[in-house]
Amino acid sequence: MLSLIKIVIATGFVYLLWSVTKFVLRVRKIMTTLRGAAGMHKGRQTRPKQEPQKAMVKCAQCQLYVIDSDAISQQGNYFCSPEHAAAFR
Ligand SMILES: [Zn+2]
Repeated sequence: MLSLIKIVIATGFVYLLWSVTKFVLRVRKIMTTLRGAAGMHKGRQTRPKQEPQKAMVKCAQCQLYVIDSDAISQQGNYFCSPEHAAAFR
């Protein structure tokens, strides 16, 4: 009879532990989701700061400002298009 009570108590204890574990896992999942949303918001805030870092160069032909990476560099001059690079000669 005593052993039966022990089994019932043990089962109840295991069930309680399982319930607590399930609850902790659910809370952790919610926290991770919230942190992820906060991280995304932070990413949006830092993005506009990165844009002015792009160097602007002036087309030697039409004086138009273009982004360094999009410009065509030729003999120390920058151009907005291959047409202007060819026309400058
Ligand atoms: Zn140009």
